[in-house]
Amino acid sequence: MTQTVIVGAGIGGLCAALGLARAGRRVTVFEQAPELGEVGAGISLAPNAMKGLRHIGLESNVETLADEPLEQYTRHYQTAEPLVTIDRHNTRDQLGAGYLQMHRADLHDLLVAALREVQADAIKLGYRLSGVDSADDGATLHFDNGEQHTADVVIGADGLRSIVRETVFAARGGDYAGVVAWRGLVPTEALGDVALLDGSNVFVGPQRIFVRYPVRRGAIQNFVAFTREPDWAAEGWTQKGSRSALRSHFEDFHPEVLATIDALGDAACFRWGLFERKPLDRWVKGSVALLGDAAHPMLPWFGQGAATAIEDGVVLARSLVEAPTIHDGLLWYERARRERVTEIHRESSLGGERLLNAYKTLLKAEPVRTEDTLGMTLYDPGTVALA
Ligand code: FAD
Repeated sequence: MTQTVIVGAGIGGLCAALGLARAGRRVTVFEQAPELGEVGAGISLAPNAMKGLRHIGLESNVETLADEPLEQYTRHYQTAEPLVTIDRHNTRDQLGAGYLQMHRADLHDLLVAALREVQADAIKLGYRLSGVDSADDGATLHFDNGEQHTADVVIGADGLRSIVRETVFAARGGDYAGVVAWRGLVPTEALGDVALLDGSNVFVGPQRIFVRYPVRRGAIQNFVAFTREPDWAAEGWTQKGSRSALRSHFEDFHPEVLATIDALGDAACFRWGLFERKPLDRWVKGSVALLGDAAHPMLPWFGQGAATAIEDGVVLARSLVEAPTIHDGLLWYERARRERVTEIHRESSLGGERLLNAYKTLLKAEPVRTEDTLGMTLYDPGTVALA
C-alpha cells in the first residue's frame, strides 16, 4: 500500500489527510508539537474555504459552531462611518456556500476528530522533521528524535518555516513585510454595556487597521490589529504583546476599539510579524509536494491564507486519488493550483496598501476590489477540473 506522509498537522495538512483518509488511503501525519492545539484567534472562512470543507464532510459541523456575519464593514477609524459594506444575505445563493467566522481552535479540533474517526492512529505527535532525502520514487524523512521513516509520497504542510521546502526545494522562509499583527480574544461580557457595532468590522486609519468580529456565537470578540514596525526580531513568529503598548498605537481610534482593547484586562495578546514569500515556480519535486504556507505564505489582507491551504489539501487529495500514478497526481495538483494561488497572492500583497489608505480616499466612491469582486470566492476545490 502507498505510504503517504504529511508533515505538519495544521489546517492545510489535516485537510489533505482527511481527504485521503476518506478515500480509503492510509496516511501518517507527523507533527512537531507534543500536543495538538491552535493559537487563540479567530479565522474567516470565505465561501471557497467552506466548499473545500464541504468536500471533506465538515461544512455542517463548522456551521454549527461558527458565526455568519451578514454584513461586513470597512469603517472610518474615528467616526466608524462605513466606507465599504459587503452584504452577505445572498452569499450562499451567489457563491455556493456561506461566509463564516470561528475560533481557530474549534476548526482544528473538528479536523483532528474527523481524521481520527476515519483512521485513529493517523497523527504522530512529537515528531519534528529535520530533513528529507528525496528521490523520484520515494523519500526518507529524518526527525529530531532520531527516527527515520520512508514514504512513497511526502506532503510538506509544515508552514511558514517549512523544513521540507528548505531541504527539498532549497528555498528559505518568507520575508518580513514590515507589519505586525496583534491578536487577542475578549469575552463579550467583559465589554459590559459597550454597544458594539453589528457585523464583522474593519476600522482603517493612518497606517493602522483594527479588525473585530464575534466568534463562539457572540460569546467572544476576536480582534486583530495591524501596525507598521520596521523590524521583527522575535525568535518564533509569535510573542506576547502588552495591552498598554497596543492601546498607545490606537489612542485616536473609535471608542469601540479602545473599549475592546481595555476589556483585555490582564489577559495576554499576541504579536505576530507578517511574512510573505513569492510562490515557488515548482511545488512538486520527485515524490514531494508543498501546500499551504509552506508553498505560498501570503499577507492576510483578503483572509485567504488558510482558505488556500484548505483548497490545496482538498485538490491534492483528489489528485492523488484520481490520477493513475503518484507522479501524475502530484503534477495534476501543481497544475490545478499554482496559477490561482499566484493571483491571490499578488492581490493580497497589493490589498494592504489599499486598505491602509482607505480612510482618506473613501472607498465607497471607487470600484472596490474584494475577494468576491475579484472572483476568489466562487472557486470550488471539490469540483475544479483536474488533469
Ligand atoms: P500552519 O497552520 O502554520 O501549520 C503548520 C503545521 O506544521 C503546524 O502544526 C506546525 O507545528 C507544523 N510544523 C512546522 N514545522 C514542522 C516540522 N519541522 N516538523 C513537524 N511539524 C512541523 N487565513 C484565512 O484563510 N482566514 C483568516 O481569517 C486568516 N487570518 C489571518 C490573520 C493573521 C494575522 C495571519 C498572520 C494569518 C491569517 N490567515 C488567515 C492565514 C493562515 O493563518 C495561514 O495561512 C494558515 O494557518 C496556513 O496553514 P498551514 O496548514 O499551511 O500552516
